[in-house]
Amino acid sequence: MSRATKIVATLGPASSDPAVLERLLRAGVDVVRLNFSHGTAQDHRDRADLVRETALRIGKPVALMADLQGPKIRVGKFAEGRVMLVNGANFVLDASREEPGDVNIVGLDYKALPRDVKPGDNLLLNDGMIVLSVTSVRGDQVHTVVRQGGVLSNNKGINKQGGGLTAPALTAKDMEDIRTAMSFQCEYVAVSFPKSATDMEMARQLANVAGEAFRHKPALIAKIERSEAIPQLEAILKASDGIMVARGDLAVEVGAAAVPALQKRMIRMARAMDKVTITATQMMESMIQNPVPTRAEVSDVANAVLDGTDAVMLSAETAAGQYPVETVEQMALIALEAERADEVELDSSFTNKHVGRIDQSIAMGALFTAYHLGCKAIVALTDSGSTALWMSRHNIHVPIFGVTSAPNSERRMALYRNVRPILMESHTDRDEALRDAERLLIERGALRPGDTYAITCGEPMGYPGGTNMLKVCRVN
Ligand code: PGA
Ligand code: MN
Repeated sequence: MSRATKIVATLGPASSDPAVLERLLRAGVDVVRLNFSHGTAQDHRDRADLVRETALRIGKPVALMADLQGPKIRVGKFAEGRVMLVNGANFVLDASREEPGDVNIVGLDYKALPRDVKPGDNLLLNDGMIVLSVTSVRGDQVHTVVRQGGVLSNNKGINKQGGGLTAPALTAKDMEDIRTAMSFQCEYVAVSFPKSATDMEMARQLANVAGEAFRHKPALIAKIERSEAIPQLEAILKASDGIMVARGDLAVEVGAAAVPALQKRMIRMARAMDKVTITATQMMESMIQNPVPTRAEVSDVANAVLDGTDAVMLSAETAAGQYPVETVEQMALIALEAERADEVELDSSFTNKHVGRIDQSIAMGALFTAYHLGCKAIVALTDSGSTALWMSRHNIHVPIFGVTSAPNSERRMALYRNVRPILMESHTDRDEALRDAERLLIERGALRPGDTYAITCGEPMGYPGGTNMLKVCRVN
């Protein structure tokens, strides 16, 4: 059995070297995340080129994901790079301050903060390590008292406990970054801090316009990391192609203890709505410094797999850690082991699901058939990848091969759980296409003489949404 759960890895100083990147991809990275909170547009273009080249050279479909910075609220810089805030001290956040800060005051990049807070609010800095209570708001200044002190360094993030910041999800920088990402036909765009479906619709519109010149439409991932997004989850999912369980900011806004149950609910909802999920942040955090993960991290990754996530994500572990390749290797092993314990899901969630489309009902029929006949593989001849996506929302322990002639769809499917994308030349003749697909699967060792498999396609060939046929074959 090969691994079904996908791995997303963030590129950074620890992984931008061509040799390291190649080792990461070979160790199991399926999606490379470009973090637009750091680096210039040119850095991201260069990294994207390197990923494309390396993936092509080693013959592996790899998707790119541009993760937009969003309206992350950050403190400015300090004259000394960092300050030590002690409990009970006064500290001022000043939206109009340009000069570097000190132990009494610091600037802000988010100018609207003074309008969004009132006395009594708690601000959490550096992922909740530091807590400030607002005592008063005076013009552009937010006056606070330090509740939980600690070291605060340049550009650390600020969250308001309970949510309630008014910033729109897309900043001017994000819009520019979307254009950059479209220039290299980035498969996925992750939107940070969306509050509502409207934020996602706006991002999609911008991305589609920016992608037009490159005849490219990206898939959109909503990062769920604001408390306002939780009651809007269903609408946000409808407006997106997938979500990221962005546990870093989410934990600060809703309280860390609420996150595990939310993770389960989000993944369940997303799967039921045929959307993808990425579980992110601190999954293998200790491996930034250590060559082995903690027991708790192993359990965390395994549990995300059992929750049904499409992918588990690495951030600083691969961007800035000391053991990027080892981290991916360990993560892959944990996922594989957890998948073995995963239950088949042809239960009531499968049979009760309403399916009103011909192509989707064929996809569901293929799952049912392949499971009961003990097929070695399910093969979906697909233009957009949708058939493979529908199939991948239920666990049946039969690998799904998404065979497409569109390189873009091939790479996009790299994120789908249990889907192995394959590029095939395009055919107009159905029988020729079926033969060619079988040959490709035999070549990669997925099928042997005597094996049965289920294959879906659309006739006439070559129209997205045209899947209308299911065939069960035996390899001669
Ligand atoms: P970030 O998003 O790392 O871009 O902040 C992930 C998270 O908040 O968990
Ligand atoms: Mn975040």
